[in-house]
Amino acid sequence: MEQSRDYRKAYDELSEFLAKSHHIVLFGHKGPDGDSVGSTLAMRMLLESLGKSVQVIMAGGMPLNLRWMPGATEILQQGRQDEEIDKALSLSDLIICLDFNALYRIGPLLEERLRASLAQRSIPVLMIDHHPYPSDEFSWQWSCPEAAATCEVLTRLFLSPDERCIRLPEATDSTPLDPTQAEALRAKIATALLTGIITDTGLFNHNSSRPDLYELVAVLLRSGADKDLIVDKINHNHPESRQRLEGYILYEKVVVMPEIQSAYFVLTREEMERFETGAADTDGFVNKPLDIKGINCSAFFRETLDEGVKVSVRSIGDIAVNELCSECFGGGGHKNAAGGEFSQGSISEAVDLFVDYMRRHYLRPSKERKPAMGI
Ligand code: 5GP
Ligand code: MN
Repeated sequence: MEQSRDYRKAYDELSEFLAKSHHIVLFGHKGPDGDSVGSTLAMRMLLESLGKSVQVIMAGGMPLNLRWMPGATEILQQGRQDEEIDKALSLSDLIICLDFNALYRIGPLLEERLRASLAQRSIPVLMIDHHPYPSDEFSWQWSCPEAAATCEVLTRLFLSPDERCIRLPEATDSTPLDPTQAEALRAKIATALLTGIITDTGLFNHNSSRPDLYELVAVLLRSGADKDLIVDKINHNHPESRQRLEGYILYEKVVVMPEIQSAYFVLTREEMERFETGAADTDGFVNKPLDIKGINCSAFFRETLDEGVKVSVRSIGDIAVNELCSECFGGGGHKNAAGGEFSQGSISEAVDLFVDYMRRHYLRPSKERKPAMGI
C-alpha cells in the first residue's frame, strides 16, 4: 500500500513507549464522536491484548448512537466518575491522546485534572491524530493531517506485515489468545476502527476520495469489521427527541444567506430543554443546510451550560472553516469541519462575527447573488 510516511518507524517508536508501561490512560476529545470513541476503544483492545491495564477518559456525554460500541459505556466520564479518573491518572505510567491535537481539547476541567497529575509525576504523554497544526506539548506524536480519521491512522499503524489484516501486537507478558479468540478480538477492533472512518467521512461523503482509504477499508472488512452493523447503529439509533429537534431546526431556525454561500442556525438552552435533547445528540445537524443548492458553508451556534456559545462549522470545497474558527472563535479543526467557542458576548454577537467573516472572505460577485431568505 502506497504511503509516504514511515508508519513502521512510528510503530517501533510507539512500541518502545508501550514496552515500558503497564497502566495506560487514553484520552479522547471533549464531546466524543465516532472517531474519538472508535480510536480509543480500538487502542484499548489492542493494548489489553498486550497485557496492559487501560482506562479511557473523556468529557461530554456519549451520543446514544455510539453506546453500542464494545467498551463505550466503560469510558470514564468527567463530572460523573471523577474519583475513578483521579485514581487512573495517579496509577498511570503512560498517557495516549487520540483524535485531538492540543491538550485543551479534552475540556477545561479534565485538562486541569491531567495537569495536576502530571505536576506530581512526569510521565510520557503521546499523541496520535489527524488534525492539522498539532501543538508541541507532547512527548511523542504521530500527526497525520492527510488521514481521514484517527482510526485510519491506527489502522495503518497496526497493519499486518502482508498488509491484508490488522495485526494484534504480540504479548510478551500475557498468555497468547487461541485463534478463535484472536479472530473475535480482531473483528471487534476492526469494527471500532471502521466506525471512526465511516463517521469522520460522513459515510464517505467528504474527505474520502483517496483510493488507499478504500484499501484500508478492505483491510478492516477482511479483519472482520461489521459494516452493516455500524451503518445501522450510527443511523438508526437516535432518540425520538433528536428527530423532532432536527425537524424544528430545519423548519424554523435555519437562516439562508446565499450571497455569502452560507446558512446558519442557533439553538438556545431553553430550546434544548424543551426538546429534552443533550448536546451529544445534536451531532451531525450542522451538515444539513449544506444540502441546499448554492450553500457551501453551514454554522451551528449552541448556548452551553456555562453560558458560552459552542460553534460548529462545516463547508464544501475551498471554504476553509478552520481558519474562520481560529480567527473568530479561538478554535480550529479541519478545512471543511471545524469548531470553536465564544464567551465574550451573546449568541447573536457570535453570529455577527461569522456573517462578517464570510462577507469579507466569501462574498459572491453581485451578478451571482440572490436575495437573502430567512426561514
Ligand atoms: P465539531 O463541530 O463536530 O465539534 O468539530 C468539528 C471539528 O472541529 C473536529 O475535528 C474538532 O476536533 C474540531 N473542533 C471543534 N471544536 C473545536 C475547538 O474548540 N477548538 C479546536 N481547535 N478544534 C475544534
Ligand atoms: Mn477525527
